Amino acid sequence: MKFFEKEKNNQREDPPPELIKTDFNCGNCERPLLNTLRTKETGTSIKMRAYCSECEDFSFTKEVSGAFFIAPADGVKIENAETSPDNSLHTIYTKAEDV
Ligand SMILES: [Zn+2]
Repeated sequence: MKFFEKEKNNQREDPPPELIKTDFNCGNCERPLLNTLRTKETGTSIKMRAYCSECEDFSFTKEVSGAFFIAPADGVKIENAETSPDNSLHTIYTKAEDV
């Protein structure tokens, strides 16, 4: 740990604050559908939800801020994405591949 001593007062071992993971699970069966990983704070945010092909239902809508990656959960692929006409809500359509 000697190597880090010069910056010991400000440096912590936690991940950078901008890396925030948000999970989207089906509101009905609770299956994990996708998650986002924020890579950068940009001062903007959007509302997003995921579609579960098994239940034909949606996850809860969550707010995601900054620039981020979207990754499908295990056994799920992303099929489509749709933005509401007023641009306020983004829906990511997922399809279960393991059923
Ligand atoms: Zn479901």
